[in-house]
This record gives sequence, C-alpha cells and structure tokens, in this order.
Amino acid sequence: MSRNKELLARRREIVPRAVYNTVPVFIATGSGSLLTDVDGRKIIDFAGGLGVLNVGHCHPKVVEAIRDQAGRCIHTCFHITMTEPYVELAEKLCALTPGDFPKMALFLSSGAEAVENAVKIARYATGRPAIVTFENAFHGRTLLAMSLTSKVKPYKYGFGPFAPEIYRIPFGDADRFEDLLINHVAPESVAAVIAEPVQGEGGFLTPPPDFFPRLAELCCEHGILFIDDEVQSGMGRTGRMFAIEHSNVVPDLVVCAKSLAAGLPLSAVVGRREIMDAPHVGGLGGTFGGNPVACRAALAVLEVFAEERLLEKAVSLGAKLERRLQAWKRNFKVVGELRGIGSMRAFELVKPTADGPRPSKRSAIRLIELCLERGLLVLSCGAHGNTIRMLMPLAIPDDLLERGLSIIEECLRELETSKGDRDGE
Ligand code: PLP
Repeated sequence: MSRNKELLARRREIVPRAVYNTVPVFIATGSGSLLTDVDGRKIIDFAGGLGVLNVGHCHPKVVEAIRDQAGRCIHTCFHITMTEPYVELAEKLCALTPGDFPKMALFLSSGAEAVENAVKIARYATGRPAIVTFENAFHGRTLLAMSLTSKVKPYKYGFGPFAPEIYRIPFGDADRFEDLLINHVAPESVAAVIAEPVQGEGGFLTPPPDFFPRLAELCCEHGILFIDDEVQSGMGRTGRMFAIEHSNVVPDLVVCAKSLAAGLPLSAVVGRREIMDAPHVGGLGGTFGGNPVACRAALAVLEVFAEERLLEKAVSLGAKLERRLQAWKRNFKVVGELRGIGSMRAFELVKPTADGPRPSKRSAIRLIELCLERGLLVLSCGAHGNTIRMLMPLAIPDDLLERGLSIIEECLRELETSKGDRDGE
C-alpha cells in the first residue's frame, strides 16, 4: 500500500469528513512552486496552500526568520508581555496599506478572526449594529464570518441560526446599496460595508470600475465604514500589494491573512487610528494573535517582496496567464468566462447546451483529477464550483509555469473530447 493510501485510511477513521480535501494526497515537503508527496511524487503547485504561498513554499529567508525567532522565543502572548516583531510588523503594514493618514494595526491568527475583529471595531467606533455584505462573498467559517459569507452549501447549511443585523446585496451595483439604505436598513444603523475587491471563493469576480468609488462615496456620505477584505486578493496577488488599490479607493479598515506570513497562522486588521483605537482596553485580542514567530515570518515576506520585486512579477505573471487563458477560451468550447486581475486569474468550465453554455462543476472536478494525474495541483471556486483559479507562487519559474499550463491545456483537450460531461448542471 502506498504511504498516501495508508495515511488516507488513518485520516478517514479519525478526522471528520466535513474537513474536506481537494485531492487525496499527503505532502512531505514543499519548495518554491513544487510539492513532493509522501510517496516521493513531485507536484507543481498552482494552489499555493489556498493563496498562502505568494512567496513560495519554504522561502529560505522566511525559513531562516522562523528558525531564528524559534530559537529566541516562540510565544509570550502579547497581552502578558510584548515582543518587538509585533510592533515592527504593525509599523510596516500601516505604511503599506492605502491611505495617507495615521493608522494602527492589530494581529490575530486567521482570516475569519480578523474579519470578526474588523466588525467589532467598526461597531464600537460607530455605535451602530448593521453590516452590509455581498452575494458571492466569502469571509470565513466562524459564526459571524459565516453569517457574512454568501454561499449556503457547504459553508452555512445546518450551522444556523446566524448572526443578526447582516444585510446582503448583489456585488457590483452601487444603486442596490442606495436602495438597501432606503428600503431595508437606515444608514444611521449601518456600521460598515465589508467587501473583497476581487471575490475569491465566489469565483474571482471583479465589479465594474465605478463600483468601489461609488460605494466609498455613499459610505462617506452616511458615516458608514468601508472594510476591505484582502485575505485572498492581498499581499501582491493582483500586482498591487492590496487589490483595492486598482480602484483608488481608500478603505477605513483592511483585513489581511493568508500570504501575510507564508504559511504561519497570522492575520491583521489595519486601519484609521481613531477607529482602531476606539474600543476600550481589553476589548480586542487573543492568546496567539501576533505570535513573534509568525510576525518574523511576515517581516521576512515583506523583505522578499521588495528584494525580489514580487509586485512586478505578479504583473508579468498575470499577463502570461491572461494570454494563455484567452487562447483557451478561443480554442476550447468547455472554457467559459475568464475572470480576475493581475495574477489572480480564473476560468470557468462550462457545458455547451442548445440554450448556451451552462456552468459545469463536474468538469471542474474532472479537470482537477486529470491535472493531478499529470503532476499539477489546481483548485476550483465559485458559486457553481465550476471555476478553476490560479494561485501559484508569484515567482514561479517559467519552466514550471509552462509545464503546469501545458498540463491544463492537455486536460482541457481531454475534457473536450471525452463524453464525460453528462451532468446536466
Ligand atoms: N476572507 C476571505 C476573502 C477569504 O478568502 C478567506 C478564506 O479563504 C477568509 C476571509 C477566511 O480566512 P481563514 O480561512 O484564514 O479564516
């Protein structure tokens, strides 16, 4: 029996099925854009640990920072005694996030936890209860974050009741926000709007260019805060450090996680000083948030971005991906809409029907299987589960990128010629 199969059997006995796995593979090592599984098989990684490895697996600089800090002090809890990396990282993130005004930063351990804290801060600072969120949004799996999330199955089904005072409108149409404030909730009751500049789990959806400026204008008019969830779109993925920079909108609060610390659990809320500093002493925090090892990893990530010009690499990777995706759209009937900006790119898989193309989740599942057979890891997303997203490390070497894209192309050809898609989705 292979080591993968043996571990899978043990996993099935002891870990609940709800904790899903995209592919039945156990990884032994990761380096740059390559994974090696427990049976010694090499896999090109276009998933990046779900958008966490923008600097690549085990970047030597990050590993060195982690080793060094682990040898000095692993944990104190910032509420008990403080450590310098927390303060240094806060200073750096405050300088990096959009907005030329005094800011403050707070660290937590996961994206969901940072979203929850951003909401707590917004409610406290405004004294208002309501939060506005969007269709196709994903903000995490804890109770409040899940309540802000849109897709019902698998994220919400059976896990209610949900947090109150959450209002949801379609993404991309600021008129619907105005309508909401007339027909559903008074602007004086709304603490914040929370949005992803590019909806990640929702399918790499981008709104029309005037959407965020208009939304920000309405927020400003009514004293409503704008929370920018950059958990997936941030840390350079779109070619700017934060995706909201593409629309020139300055958020009041920015939420970061995933690629912030290259795989160590770290998230942040960064925002206007007067808002961040509103809650009373002891109102915010947690045992592990801003752990010094994770903060040192994040400081190393920021150095890697500067030294290796990763933002420029994200732009050129994005251009290469766009060219390739455009060619697939021209050449394959199973490829539908192309989505995203910079290197945050995705394509839909569709089933051509007499009434036009229909989303095909089954094709996405099959494509992931076919790619894995050929040594490439890809992920799906989207409301219909039919969108394939690109989240490879930003400095992926050209030969691995080319090999990975050629594998996808071969698999698209196989999907197109097979009669497998009878799912009627
Ligand atoms: N917000 C966005 C936009 C995300 O994409 C995610 C995770 O995918 C989260 C929040 C939740 O982050 P975490 O899984 O670290 O709790």
